[in-house]
Amino acid sequence: MDDLRELYQEVILDHGKHPRNKRHPEHVTHAAHGNNPLCGDKVTIYLVIGERDRIEDVAFEGRGCAISTASASLMTEIVKGKTEAEARALFERFHAMCTDDSYVSAGDDEIDPESMDRLQVMAGIRQFPMRVKCATLPWHTLTAAMAGKEKASTE
Ligand code: ZN
Repeated sequence: MDDLRELYQEVILDHGKHPRNKRHPEHVTHAAHGNNPLCGDKVTIYLVIGERDRIEDVAFEGRGCAISTASASLMTEIVKGKTEAEARALFERFHAMCTDDSYVSAGDDEIDPESMDRLQVMAGIRQFPMRVKCATLPWHTLTAAMAGKEKASTE
């Protein structure tokens, strides 16, 4: 289990140091700013949503701690190509993973087992309640952007 934990930490560190999709796309259809006053994380999520509510492109900018940056980076990789509904469903499961001590993966019955597997690297955050909002901020901001809201806050 310790090896697994180390692997997870490596993935988070890698995404924190070399964030994916940290850029400003040209033809953004939806965008929102997120703020986590507890830690001082700020993130802007940019979306290009195409036909049938599909997320054709997603990127972010901002300044935040390693956890919020890693979570934003991982999220952009995971939700790209998904529909808005799929992204919302993933956030619901991810939120439970980060906050609910009784969370268990539904395994093969999971809505999107592959994405949930990738998100598993963040599950250790549950032991650090102060940092949960760092991990969920990009997702809160994503759902705000999809809903046409300009701002999201973890408060
Ligand atoms: Zn943070």
